[in-house]
Amino acid sequence: MSKNILILPGDGIGPEIVAEAVKVIECLQAEFGLDVMMEHADVGGGAYDAHGHPLPDTTLGLARAADAILLGAVGGPQWEGLDIAVRPERALLGLRSELALFSNLRPAVLFDQLAGASSLRPEIVAGLDMMIVRELTGGIYFGQPRGVRTLEHGERQGFNTLVYKESEIERIARSAFVIAQKRAHKLCSVDKANVLESTELWRQCVSDLASDYPDVELSHMYVDNAAMQLVRAPKQFDVMVTTNMFGDILSDIAAMLTGSIGMLPSASLDAEAKGMYEPIHGSAPDIAGQGVANPLATILSVAMMLRYTLSEPALAERIDVAVGKVLDQGLRTPDIYSQDGTRVGTVAMGDAVVLALRT
Ligand code: NAD
Repeated sequence: MSKNILILPGDGIGPEIVAEAVKVIECLQAEFGLDVMMEHADVGGGAYDAHGHPLPDTTLGLARAADAILLGAVGGPQWEGLDIAVRPERALLGLRSELALFSNLRPAVLFDQLAGASSLRPEIVAGLDMMIVRELTGGIYFGQPRGVRTLEHGERQGFNTLVYKESEIERIARSAFVIAQKRAHKLCSVDKANVLESTELWRQCVSDLASDYPDVELSHMYVDNAAMQLVRAPKQFDVMVTTNMFGDILSDIAAMLTGSIGMLPSASLDAEAKGMYEPIHGSAPDIAGQGVANPLATILSVAMMLRYTLSEPALAERIDVAVGKVLDQGLRTPDIYSQDGTRVGTVAMGDAVVLALRT
């Protein structure tokens, strides 16, 4: 039976980059037997303008019914003054929590052709291929109580709560162990167990599960050391699993190791591997409408969708290979351009990937 993909282009460069990813999906449908149906809906600032809410009920309904969601990006300066409850970015939080997308997969893969774009020396990053699994729906970003209160002597105090239940730790840890089994069988759990009781529990729970995955080598690391190791010797990592806030920060460090934000996809999965797939970057209002945005992160998000939700690993591999081919040809959008390449725009890059898929 056909699987349903909901396409949510969003704001800024979102529609431009998603259009190229849709071309890739259409090519897989037409020429490689991919059995999917696509529907489009509004999300983000554009949805607020059209329907009064960044995540309209119709979009949420379609998202619930879909097997997978492909999202471009949301947000932009024109919506920054809105009440926080209806800002475009709220749509992302809404989709994640309403669909229980608790497992955020952020690969950091450095294409050899782009090793020079990293801020680290090529010998430190060449061949980097790691995956950060970030817990996405719990921890300090959601814990109660939270707020700003006024103390007796009139001084204000801000407070947040870092909470994790055993069941929340177990489900994200299992998700990470399974991913490690599909990769190099190494899992590093990152915490601050020497200072924070909630992450001491995190460490215990992850350790307790290790015997269920005897083929995965489990290690633990404090978050400050993990940040250091990511820039010292990132290739020591295969899969890393961590809390919401630590993952937020560490995955951005890992992203920068690869040189361009325009190359990195991500996935957010529920317990049944239904997922929302999106590039890690935002709506890039500074370049929106100019036809220069790099569509490769969005196209690589389609590859992740094929791998993790649609169970089509061979087609995922085809996309990865096609992206490698266009980089080998020297094609570069401005964000990854260096003097030996050929500068191309969004549409030309998408067309080149489709051509490379066919050949
Ligand atoms: P951004 O990721 O949009 O842009 C940061 C820089 O990277 C910009 O210079 C931009 O031009 C460049 N860039 C990003 N994607 C690119 C691509 N595909 N090709 C070439 N260059 C690219 O981050 P920002 O500027 O901090 O945020 C802009 C808006 O996006 C804000 O409204 C923010 O809230 C929103 N945002 C949305 C998401 C999301 O939808 N998931 C994520 C982050 C930020």
